[in-house]
Amino acid sequence: MIELERVCKVYPGGVTALDEVSLTIEAGALAAIVGPSGSGKSTLLHLIGALDVPTSGTVRIAGRDVATLSDAGLSRLRASAIGFVFQQFHLAAGMSALDNVADGLLYAGVGLASRRRQAADALTRVGLAHRMTHRPAQLSGGERQRVAIARAVLGSPPLLLADEPTGNLDSASGAAVLDLLRSLHAAGTTIVIITHDRDIAASMPLRFALRDGRLS
Ligand code: ADP
Repeated sequence: MIELERVCKVYPGGVTALDEVSLTIEAGALAAIVGPSGSGKSTLLHLIGALDVPTSGTVRIAGRDVATLSDAGLSRLRASAIGFVFQQFHLAAGMSALDNVADGLLYAGVGLASRRRQAADALTRVGLAHRMTHRPAQLSGGERQRVAIARAVLGSPPLLLADEPTGNLDSASGAAVLDLLRSLHAAGTTIVIITHDRDIAASMPLRFALRDGRLS
C-alpha cells in the first residue's frame, strides 16, 4: 500500500526533515509513526498522503509513484484512496454532523440526497446515528473526532491517515477514538496513525520510530 525508498525531504532554507527513510506498509496494516516534535512525522504523513513529493527517493502509494503524477493526478489519488483525520477535527461550526460529513463528497460529483445518505451510513458506522443533526458545538471532543472520522471514511478509501487523532482529547475519549480506528482496521482499512505518544504507539501492531528525520 505504501512504499518509501531512501526518501529525503529538504525544505527551502535547507532543513532536512527526512533523511534516507525507507519503509513498507502492506495493505491491511495498522501502523504507528512515532517520534518527538520536530522528528519529521508530519513531513512523512504529507508524503504518504500524496500532499507533497520527496526531494529525492521514491514514494509509492497504492502502486503509484507520486513523482510521476501531476497535481491533478495527486488530487485524484487522494480523493480515491486516502482519508485524512487531523488533531483539530476541521469541522464547520454552522453545519450539522450530517452535513459536515456529506461535505466530504462535495467534489465527487454526488448529489445532495445521495451525499446525505452516505453520510448517515458513515455516522452510523462510527456510532453517531443519534447525533446527526447536532452541530459541532453540541458535541463532545470525542464525538467531533468521530464525525471527522466518518467524513474521512466516506467512500471507503483503502487508506486512512490520522495525524495525532487523540491529541485534543481526554484519555477516555482518546481511547474510544483508538477503538474506533481499530474496528475500522478490523473491517479492512489500512490505517497509519501519527503520534508522539509512546503508549499509543506501543499498542499498535506495527511501529516506525523517527528521530531527527531518520528511522531508528
Ligand atoms: P513533527 O511532525 O515530528 O513535529 P515535522 O515534519 O513537522 O516534524 O518537521 C520536521 C522538521 O522540518 C522540523 O525541523 C521543522 O522545523 C521542519 N519543517 C517542517 N515543515 C517545514 C516547512 N514547510 N518549511 C521549512 N521547514 C519545515
